[in-house]
Amino acid sequence: MAERGIDLGKRGFLKGLLPSDPAVIRPPWSVEETIASACTGCGACISACPQAIIRLDARQRPEIDFSSSECTFCGACAEVCSEPVFDRARPGFQHIALIGDMCFAARGVVCQSCGDACPEAAIRFRPRRGGPALPELAVDQCTGCGACIAACPAAAIGTRPTAAEAAHA
Ligand code: SF4
Ligand code: SF4
Ligand code: SF4
Repeated sequence: MAERGIDLGKRGFLKGLLPSDPAVIRPPWSVEETIASACTGCGACISACPQAIIRLDARQRPEIDFSSSECTFCGACAEVCSEPVFDRARPGFQHIALIGDMCFAARGVVCQSCGDACPEAAIRFRPRRGGPALPELAVDQCTGCGACIAACPAAAIGTRPTAAEAAHA
């Protein structure tokens, strides 16, 4: 299902940044509960990640930083962990991309970098009168990999919970 990607909602407009506060993103196939209960903070997943997107948070627990690259779902983090933190039976991430109102295209500047970067072709551009085409996210196709986040020159893309995760919360 495609939906309009730009959130021009009041909250995002007032903040002028991302449309929601970015929550801590845990490595794929891990969740907050297993991080809290089983992670020792050993850092093995950090060393194992070929994309170098895992770092320790303030509590010395692993979190994902999509600012420089994306998750390829290679599985190295889950394989190296000796504790019951990762469960490959879960979905990789509990979030999808969320395009905010800092998007250049929404501000009249042509840009399609996120669409070019997306390995799932989940971002399409709908032509419109009076301005550059706007990105639209096909929510059913987004894996939450973060490639669009790393590629966006406006730092306009964040994440939001998947529908399943939102219903669970
Ligand atoms: S699946 Fe691979 S790329 Fe993704 S966070 Fe784990 S080690 Fe890094
Ligand atoms: S890469 Fe960023 S600025 Fe460019 S169209 Fe996508 S969301 Fe907008
Ligand atoms: S998070 Fe990944 S799959 Fe989703 S829109 Fe961005 S690049 Fe595409």
